[in-house]
Formats: sequence, structure tokens, C-alpha cells
Amino acid sequence: MEDPQIIRIKQNYFFNMTEPSKPTDKYAKILHLFVLKNDERPQLQMPWYQKEFVLASDAYDMVVFDKTLLTQVYFPPHEKHPDGLAIIPEENNVNEVITTENIITADRDLFYKEQVKYALSTQTCKDCSGNGQVEYVFTDYCSTDHKIKHDCPTCNASGSCDVVINAITKEVLDFKTYQLLIKYKNVYFRLSSFKKIVETANLLTQKEVTLIYRQHENGGKHVFKVGEVKILVMPTMENKAKPEDIVVEL
Ligand SMILES: [Zn+2]
Repeated sequence: MEDPQIIRIKQNYFFNMTEPSKPTDKYAKILHLFVLKNDERPQLQMPWYQKEFVLASDAYDMVVFDKTLLTQVYFPPHEKHPDGLAIIPEENNVNEVITTENIITADRDLFYKEQVKYALSTQTCKDCSGNGQVEYVFTDYCSTDHKIKHDCPTCNASGSCDVVINAITKEVLDFKTYQLLIKYKNVYFRLSSFKKIVETANLLTQKEVTLIYRQHENGGKHVFKVGEVKILVMPTMENKAKPEDIVVEL
């Protein structure tokens, strides 16, 4: 059970983030960009300190910078924070400059491609025919069936589901989700990772970011530097796009 004091601080913290009183320190804002925004892993909901650094991560991307840059401390670190410094490589092995303008252009192209290809449509849930309840059967050791009606897990008892449809023909496509990906030198990254890099650059009034570390050509850790800030980005899980994904090359 988590300390009620910590829970209260967290609640205030998230409340404040949506209010004008959110952190004014640009480095505090950068940390907030990278913390986990759901409660699946409490140890990632707050930034944390290690040695002379402060770090934040949502399990996909991680940011690290010298803690003396942070003038406004607004968080209690989780006591079981991960060992982020063990994940971020100390060496640099590449030096490739990318302009934020190029990333913004790729983002806009992805948006247009998505609009042309897909739309979302709300349809009656196929599993419960729209009534929000399904029947569960349990067979006991005497082979007797026990039936119970319960909330439909497919539609969360709402009776309808959002499905992906072809934007032109309106036919329902047989996948639930697709990803928006940026391809850079044969490696596929989530658009969301690059958006955070651009937001960081904007906060630090930088127009360029530099790739300073690449683990290997087919994927693995990549580290970008924006001003005094390092951002570790993991490429997409299988390091390739699925046919339904939308890809723009950087
Ligand atoms: Zn349903």
C-alpha cells in the first residue's frame, strides 16, 4: 500500500499539470514530458535522481540531464525507481544532426497519410450484439455447466466499439490499431518519441537535435542530444512496420 501522503502529492501534481500553475522551469517541463502518464508502473510516474543526474521515463523513452539544471523541484521520486544510468550508454559513436523542422514535416506528412487511408467508425459490438452483456460458462468436476451473464469485455459493456475503416470505401478493416512510424536510416521509431524530442527542443529553443549513439544498424538504443539534455529512444518492438502501419521517412 502506498503512503497516503505520496498519493496526495501525486494527485496534486497531476492536477497542477493541467492548471496554469504547472512547472515554470523548462527543465521541469521536460521531465514531465517523459514521465509515465498512467498508473501501470508507479515507479515511472515521477522523475528520479541518480548520481549527479535527474531522469524520467515512460518505459519507451528516457530523458537524462545534470540535476543542477533543474531549478524547480516539484516531485517526490519513487523509492523503487529503475537504474536508468545503467541503460544509457556513456560513449558517443555517431554525430548526425537532424533539424526539428524535418521532424515536424514528417509528423505533418504522417497526419495527411493517415487521413487519406483510415477513419474511425463506431459500430455495434459483435460479441454482445450491442447489449453490453455476454454469457460466461464454467464447467465443474461433475461436468455441470454454470452460466453467468457479465459485462462484455470487448466493448467494456458499452455495446459499441471503435473500428478502423478504409477512409474511401468505408469497409471495416480487420485490425484494431495501427502505428504512426518515422523511419530513420532503416530503423522504425514511434512518432510519439520524435514529438517529445521536438517539444524538448522547443522548450530549449534549439532548432537541431543530434543523434550521438546508435546501438546497431537494425535497431536497438538510440541517444539524441538536445542542448544539455540526452534522450534515449527505443525503436519499435520488432523494429519493423506492419502492413497497416503508416510510415514516413526522415
Ligand atoms: Zn460487447
